This record gives sequence, structure tokens and C-alpha cells, in this order.
Amino acid sequence: MKTEIAVVGGGPAGLAAALALAKVGRDVCVLERNDWPQDRACGEGILPDGLAHLQALGVNPAGMPIKGIEYHDARIGSFRGIFGHKPALGVRRTVLSEALHSACSTQVDLRPHEAVSGMSKIDKGWRLETPQGSLDARYVVVADGPRSALREQLGLTGKPPMNVDRLGWRQHLNIEPPSPYVEVHWGMGYEAYLTPVGPKQLGVALLWRQGVEIPKGPSRLWRWLDRFDGLRGRFDGAEPSSAGRGIGRMAVSARRSTFEDGCFVGDALAFFDGISGEGLSAGFAQASLLASAFETGIPNGAVPGLERQLWATLRSKRRLTHLLLLLHKHPTLRKFVFALFRRQPQIFGWALNRSV
Ligand SMILES: Cc1cc2nc3c(=O)[nH]c(=O)nc-3n(C[C@H](O)[C@H](O)[C@H](O)COP(=O)(O)OP(=O)(O)OC[C@H]3O[C@@H](n4cnc5c(N)ncnc54)[C@H](O)[C@@H]3O)c2cc1C
Repeated sequence: MKTEIAVVGGGPAGLAAALALAKVGRDVCVLERNDWPQDRACGEGILPDGLAHLQALGVNPAGMPIKGIEYHDARIGSFRGIFGHKPALGVRRTVLSEALHSACSTQVDLRPHEAVSGMSKIDKGWRLETPQGSLDARYVVVADGPRSALREQLGLTGKPPMNVDRLGWRQHLNIEPPSPYVEVHWGMGYEAYLTPVGPKQLGVALLWRQGVEIPKGPSRLWRWLDRFDGLRGRFDGAEPSSAGRGIGRMAVSARRSTFEDGCFVGDALAFFDGISGEGLSAGFAQASLLASAFETGIPNGAVPGLERQLWATLRSKRRLTHLLLLLHKHPTLRKFVFALFRRQPQIFGWALNRSV
């Protein structure tokens, strides 16, 4: 079996890359170890630049418009940053997966239940091994997520990009979202993110530093909410509407974004931290980039500039993540910065809109 471009991994980054490449005339196949639609631990907010890339691909998942982000710290107070004229969207991961899958279905060879167990170099391209047999591809886009086994096999796993070890977990409540903002509630070593994702569905994501004692067991969502002043009381009567899902260490990175006849996208390339809500947008920007790079075919040898351009999709997101992680780590600095943003919300609005 042969294909021009094989995408390994059918998460949002892989499907968006496949769709973008198919739209410029490439013959694309996606190998996915599970089936669609897929769910995953995520804050489920698509920031304005990511949404623009997604919509440019003709993908418009149903979700809740988001006007901006509100930060709350019980000791300091709260402030809000507004996304100017650019919209953002809260979307259930299953809905996003379904929308991308359906957009791909007429243009991309989608292969569920085909886990790639290894790849070996052939004269022009790569041979991918799956339980169903082997597939020769002229070019490979590796999009197999944060724990990318192919990145590991290629010896291209790099150092974690952030020097703080953080983990995440999420669940949903069947309640009308309280506002069209993502609410971020800060605690000591952890935060809660409330994202509207449906008319009667609110996503609750928790992020915390390794070492923080965390609630466990069936009532863990409520025990998490108990840790934030007044938060649990706002959701009296609501019921969980999804199973909880967690994720291990968030910060991951490849050493290079490209290799001979292949590249990484999405979390397989790098992910910093859910604190800035940036992973999906990065994946969608990388998909647009690949479409431009391969518009006229697959060149022999490296695609000029692709290595640098893929990293560039992450630059502003890295800066914002660093800033927010500094505030996470240093409550005193947070107090000072929050007080400044409360007095001068336009400063935060400016910083936010430069990054999203
Ligand atoms: C707690 C948390 C909150 C977050 N909040 C946000 C947010 O609000 N906004 C935002 O934009 N981002 C957020 N992110 C980041 C976002 O979830 C990720 O960046 C995004 O899911 C990356 O998509 P992906 O396609 O690269 O990886 P994934 O979604 O992990 O997809 C990888 C795919 O590859 C498949 N796969 C793996 N190995 C193989 C194999 N060998 N063969 C075939 N298939 C394989 C998997 O089954 C999976 O389908 C958050 C992340 C976390 C952890």
C-alpha cells in the first residue's frame, strides 16, 4: 500500500493537517489507533487565532462563543481580558473531533484502529508498520500526541520545555454556563478553569503542580471545587455529565520539528501547559503552514524554512505560558501583577490579544 502523505494520529492536530493538505491536492491518509469521535482531557477553549485557522478549513463545530478570560484569586480579587473583535469558542472535544472527521471524510483516507507500531526509512519516504500491514508514504506527519512513541523511536524527544511539572484533569457539569467567559480560579499550586461548551454544559478543568495533594474518588470534582472560595455553592443541583479524564506531565517537546521526509505537529511537536489554552490553536496553525509548504507537491530534500516556521507557531504561546506559570509559582508576584491588571485592565487585554 502507498500514499503520498501519511498522518499518524487522528486527534485535532492530525485531522486538521490531513484536511489542510488534502485541500491543496495532496493524497493523504490518517492512521489512528482508536476510532472517532475522540475525547481527551482538555480545557476545550479554542482561542481566536486557532478558531480562524479552523474556520478557514471550512470546519465550524457547534460550541459556545467566548468573549474573554476572567481571572479570580480569592485573596486578591478578579479582572477580565476581552478578545477584542476576534471570537473564541468553547467546544466539547467529541464535537470538535466529529466536525473534523466529517470534513475529512470525503477528502482523506481515514483509517481507524490502525496503530502505527514503527517506521523505517525507505529510499523516498517511510514505511509505516501497523497490525494491518505496512504502508509506504513519501512524507510522514507525526501527530501522535504528547507521549509520541514515534518521536521517541526516532530519538527526537527533547527536554521538557517548562521547568515546572504540572498535571491536569477534567469533567463536565450539566449546567447553564454562568457567563460567556472562561473563568480561571487560582489556588495555591493549582487552578480551576470553567469553560462554557454547550447551552447546558460547563467544562471544569483542574491543573496542578506535581506534589500538591489532590482529591481522589468519585466525588473528586466536588472536593476540588471546595478548595476555591464559593465555587462549589454556585453549582448546587448540577450533575456531572461526563466521566473524569486526566493527563500526566503536560510539558513535552521534540528536539526538532522536522526530520528527513517528515515532521511533527500538535503535542507530538510540543506542548507547554494548559494554563494558556493554546494547544489546539498551535495544531491548527501548523496545519495551515503544512498546506502552504506542500501546495505544489513534496520536494526532494528538506522543505525550506519549515523547521523554523513550525517552531514559530509556538513562540507567542510559549511567552504567555511562561508569564502565567511565573504567576502560578510566585503568589506574591501574582498579587502584584493582578493588582496592576485590576487597575489597568487594558494592559492585560493588550497582552492577551498579542498572544491569541
Ligand atoms: C488539562 C489540559 C487542558 C487543556 N486546555 C486546552 C484549551 O483550553 N485549549 C487548547 O487549545 N488546548 C488545550 N489543551 C491542549 C490540547 O488538549 C492539546 O494541545 C491537543 O489535544 C493536541 O492535539 P493532538 O492532535 O496533537 O494530540 P491528541 O489529541 O492527543 O491526539 C493524538 C492522537 O494520536 C493517536 N495515536 C497515538 N499514538 C498512535 C499510534 N501509534 N498510531 C496511530 N495513532 C496514534 C491517539 O489515539 C490520538 O487520537 C489542554 C491540555 C490539557 C492537558
